[in-house]
Amino acid sequence: MKLQDQVALVTGGGSGLGRAIVERYVGEGARVAIFDRSQERIDEVVKELGDRVIGIVGDVREMDDNRRAVAECVRAFGKLDTLVGNAGVWDWSKSLVSTEDDALVAAFDEMFAINVKGYVLAAKAALPELYKSRGQMIFTASNASFYPGGGGVIYTATKHAVVGMIKQMAHEFAPHVRVNGVAPGGIVGSNLAGIGALGQAGHKFSELPLNDLMKQMLPLERAFHAREYAGAYVFFADRRDNQPATGSVLNFDGGIGMRGF
Ligand code: NAD
Repeated sequence: MKLQDQVALVTGGGSGLGRAIVERYVGEGARVAIFDRSQERIDEVVKELGDRVIGIVGDVREMDDNRRAVAECVRAFGKLDTLVGNAGVWDWSKSLVSTEDDALVAAFDEMFAINVKGYVLAAKAALPELYKSRGQMIFTASNASFYPGGGGVIYTATKHAVVGMIKQMAHEFAPHVRVNGVAPGGIVGSNLAGIGALGQAGHKFSELPLNDLMKQMLPLERAFHAREYAGAYVFFADRRDNQPATGSVLNFDGGIGMRGF
């Protein structure tokens, strides 16, 4: 049990990677608050995991919702050791060339608000409790944080911004709170949502031929399930193993940049 008596807050913990992190943390002995915009998804996880988890419905773009999530977590479990900023949306690799002006403006604002502002507001809300516990923050980046081709211009820009944000937070919060990231590649079990302004409301990530795509793209020649990514989040939450780490982002993507020429 690597996270016995630890308390975590996971944004986007109702589905995909976030849900896998919640399940793994609970399996390692932690108690976890799930902050997600979907009541239905939260209910499913709470039903599965029982009283070691609580759910907070809200929107990561709202400061008040982030503060409420931290307050509910501390009220239920007494403290906060680890913030996992993870809620995000995708642009389905929509090309800039084919995007109309109005849609572009709306899509840019929506995606940056969820993928970047959502992380910054969660960090701001969690910081006082993490100072008290000498805790840590872990943010979900992406292969798109380092390489082209994992999304369109807007998604790739948000995920590059996450890396800069992690480094600046690590610098600013040291030595009290450590800040790191995990950069996964394509995730089996994800329900990653698209952007309404780009006409992607009905798109279903689960219907992508991810196994075939990843087999072609990755040196490791297969796609990875959300569960297979969750261990990296245990590593960054377990204070016994990660004390020297801050400002680092783990490439955890099936070797996507290792193809060579
Ligand atoms: P997912 O859609 O399965 O899970 C994301 C969760 O975030 C959902 O439960 C959703 O309700 C919640 N959410 C979305 N917007 C929210 C908001 N405004 N407020 C509160 N909750 C909100 O997707 P996932 O694939 O598990 O994505 C998790 C993270 O992984 C994201 O940051 C994503 O960019 C990143 N990522 C995904 C992939 C992939 O292949 N799916 C690859 C690399 C990185």
